[in-house]
Amino acid sequence: MFDVLAQTLEGRPPLNPVGQLPHLDWQWHGEGVLELSPRHACEKAVVISAGVHGNETAPIELLNQLVAELLAGSRPLNVRLLVVLGNPPSMRANKRYLHADMNRMFGGRHARFDVSDETVRAQELEQLLAEFYHNASAAGATQRFHYDLHTAIRGSLHLRFGLLPFQPRPYSAEMLHWLEQAGLDALVYHRSPGGTFTHFSSEVFQAESCTLELGKALPFGHNELSQFRQIRQALEALVSDLAPPQRRGESLKHYQVVQDIIREQPDFVLNISPEALNFTAYPQGYILAEQSGKIYRVEHAEEVVLFPNPNVALGLRAGLMLTLKD
Ligand code: ZN
Repeated sequence: MFDVLAQTLEGRPPLNPVGQLPHLDWQWHGEGVLELSPRHACEKAVVISAGVHGNETAPIELLNQLVAELLAGSRPLNVRLLVVLGNPPSMRANKRYLHADMNRMFGGRHARFDVSDETVRAQELEQLLAEFYHNASAAGATQRFHYDLHTAIRGSLHLRFGLLPFQPRPYSAEMLHWLEQAGLDALVYHRSPGGTFTHFSSEVFQAESCTLELGKALPFGHNELSQFRQIRQALEALVSDLAPPQRRGESLKHYQVVQDIIREQPDFVLNISPEALNFTAYPQGYILAEQSGKIYRVEHAEEVVLFPNPNVALGLRAGLMLTLKD
């Protein structure tokens, strides 16, 4: 049987793009995009993606192992599954991206960027998700999920966390329960739309979607996959449509975004150390950032920072501030 990761890295598609195994059908939809369908009816249409940032290797390896087990028949497939390795050229280069960050481009935002492999790929993935969810619905799989797997660049006080896209409808209890059992340390609730892959699937297809940050990125072959055991077990349960294993350890913390720090002026200064860990706390009144005409201060008794980055282009987000969710 073929190896999705190896064939994607080598740029070598399978000779025949469709195949039948005794227990499932598979279809190669394009570089790094593989659909697996069980022979029996099922209720869930699940997208699991990794490698939207090409150097975030551990989740790619984890996903590849899972696919290998499904193809080998050693793990039952009880959902319709689309596996997506997001950005193969940047995976080959072991870079986050080659031209621009693909995870800002979804929901048609690729049109605002200079044309590159990444804008073309974002558009292609949008179409593939549309076809996958549409065909799955026609086959009776109407419950839609999408988990996009990442690892963070910087260190974090919460090692593993999920980012829930903003959506006007409530998040499904089933997804929140799964996220709890997946061993995440924290969940962050966005308060505004964005160009992420999961915001796109949530908004356009009403999928239950979450971006998962699963620790720190290392090159292929150097990841200690044992630290991903809980998320791995949760993904195994997901594809077999079984209840996820019981959570161990401390309970999950829920955070809401309370400020988006935007770099709007050339004189923008971010008063957060470039080495600050995600979820570092700042006290009320602290001046987070300054620029002509605008000062960002901590407004609540305490706020914690996520993804601080002073070097973003004008008009983009230089960081998020969060509080514990009430
Ligand atoms: Zn990432």
